[in-house]
Amino acid sequence: MVPYVASWSGELAGFEDELVVQLGRGGPRLGYRNERPEDRIGSGGVLWGRIAQAPGVGRPQFDCLHPVRQYIAMYAMKCQVCGGPASKNKDGWLFLDWRKPHDPPTWPERSLTAMPPLCEAHVRLSMEECPHLSSTEVLVLRVRTPRLWGISGTPYTLTADGWRTHERDALLPFGDPDLGKVLASRLYRELRNVTVVGGGGAG
Ligand SMILES: [Zn+2]
Repeated sequence: MVPYVASWSGELAGFEDELVVQLGRGGPRLGYRNERPEDRIGSGGVLWGRIAQAPGVGRPQFDCLHPVRQYIAMYAMKCQVCGGPASKNKDGWLFLDWRKPHDPPTWPERSLTAMPPLCEAHVRLSMEECPHLSSTEVLVLRVRTPRLWGISGTPYTLTADGWRTHERDALLPFGDPDLGKVLASRLYRELRNVTVVGGGGAG
């Protein structure tokens, strides 16, 4: 089964020459030639990466999230595997999480994640089918307050020749003044009021 949030090799990303300089109140910011309202998200108008929507075309790319389906699943709390509603009970929404370099010492409390929630059937399937998820560090969580936190994406610098990028992904919270210079590709939530309900090698 190919997860809803996985991308396919037939889904081609937009071209860099679609990027233009827009002058706003906060100075120059990234924009698209022929920009559409759906190219930006949130009150700050973060520019989102363009990509074709053609699930099923070509080969599945399991380690590459589709920017638009990741956004939809994370924003609307849909299961990352089937795209149906994620599980929620009195202890909150169902997430899987593992230690990442930017995690705080309070992990899994206040962990930042780009992996959308899951339904109950697909938490079980993920733990059984994915070798890296059966390691001891993966926890099954219920999260009462998965707060919308920010984005990651490609940071750009304005040069005499237009927008250029040399850097790897940047991770920025909503409200950051540099959001206007990032082409976003993943929406992050901060996991608050977390209860560990499984994993950690205990199943
Ligand atoms: Zn599911």
